[in-house]
Amino acid sequence: MNFKGSRDKAVEELNQFIENNLVEYSKLRNFDFGPQKRDNTSCLSPYITHGLINEVEIINKSLKKFSFVKNEKFIQEVLWRVYWKGWLELRPNVWTDYLEELKDIKKNFINNKDYLAAIEGKTNIECFNEWVNELKKFNYLHNHTRMWFASIWIFTLNLPWQLGAEFFMEHLFDGDAASNTLGWKWVAGIQTQGKNYLATEWNIKKFTNNRFQNIKINEKASPKIAKKNYSIVEKSFSNPHLLENKMLLIFDNNLSLEFTKFNDHNFKKILIISNTNEFRHIQLSKNILNFKTLLINDQLNRLKKKSIAVEVIKINELKNIKEPVYALYPTVGENLDYINSNQLKNIQFLYREIDQFSWQFCNKGFFNFKNYIPKIISKFN
Ligand SMILES: Cc1cc2nc3c(=O)[nH]c(=O)nc-3n(C[C@H](O)[C@H](O)[C@H](O)COP(=O)(O)OP(=O)(O)OC[C@H]3O[C@@H](n4cnc5c(N)ncnc54)[C@H](O)[C@@H]3O)c2cc1C
Repeated sequence: MNFKGSRDKAVEELNQFIENNLVEYSKLRNFDFGPQKRDNTSCLSPYITHGLINEVEIINKSLKKFSFVKNEKFIQEVLWRVYWKGWLELRPNVWTDYLEELKDIKKNFINNKDYLAAIEGKTNIECFNEWVNELKKFNYLHNHTRMWFASIWIFTLNLPWQLGAEFFMEHLFDGDAASNTLGWKWVAGIQTQGKNYLATEWNIKKFTNNRFQNIKINEKASPKIAKKNYSIVEKSFSNPHLLENKMLLIFDNNLSLEFTKFNDHNFKKILIISNTNEFRHIQLSKNILNFKTLLINDQLNRLKKKSIAVEVIKINELKNIKEPVYALYPTVGENLDYINSNQLKNIQFLYREIDQFSWQFCNKGFFNFKNYIPKIISKFN
């Protein structure tokens, strides 16, 4: 498994997956055959998370190859990500509360031997240890494995989900505030309240092709209890009718301006914002920071080739910009936190059309959202 730092490579991988592997996706997607054989899922998440390729592009390409009916599962998964993002946008306090809880929990667990054994891959559960090493080495885990990992972390090792979510964010190339936080909460049983996800020995054995033996885990735990209910906040995601000649900020979730509807606009200058650990609540590993730098430089070079005035700046330099600017909306997460906590009021957000349209359907559960998938697709296909 080798993730490359360029849009060209990401598109190449997307095309290859659609051409060769999409046909068997729904049948094989739940199998984790190990890091050397990853072609049964797309492995596109590191690129999608950084906006190098986008959901509309992926869905439309897949629909050129197969009908919606043959393609439904894959499209559902791609839109699941849009749903999680929208769900969190409507309840942003879930993210801020998570960060607050994490701060407190970390103080208590800094020397906890079970926690240290878990993050060093030294527990007595062989498959778990292997996944820890795999995560650190490849910065990616299969979806099913993320579910087993989180379930073992919470219900067998009895560690707080907040620390597990932090560990994933630290090491995943696709680390994303919405998919990760809500994925962990879902496994714990506090996202869909009262329903936890319990990994079982037979399920792990079956879907890893019997790569692991002797898996002693807690298969009978009760869901964690949610401390709080979150109501939906009123938010507008509308764009200005006419764009002015201002500067545009791009964060690391939207690294392909050329493929957005704002492509043709003549911005005064483009500033690509790089965020370092100094300004993050969750410290990212070197691999992740290096990967982000590669992707940012790829966007920089693509824009330079089009003779657009563009520059990379550090996020703390935003404080020096006093004039009104636009920004491709960074979504709930560390970059938006920086803007909010520094009260940068001169920034007007521009929203992606897919988000503007889909997030209105994120007020309830995913099963409700699923009903709107044909509507979403027909709007963008
Ligand atoms: C505890 C936990 C933490 C997770 N953390 C993240 C994260 O930080 N970032 C992230 O992008 N995904 C996260 N996921 C979702 C999912 O595991 C990954 O998106 C998926 O494994 C990526 O592999 P792929 O590209 O081969 O997916 P494919 O199966 O090929 O799916 C195509 C695309 O659909 C989206 N997708 C697929 N499954 C999901 C899902 N369950 N939730 C949301 N989007 C999905 C991804 O963008 C993915 O690239 C998490 C899941 C769990 C259970």
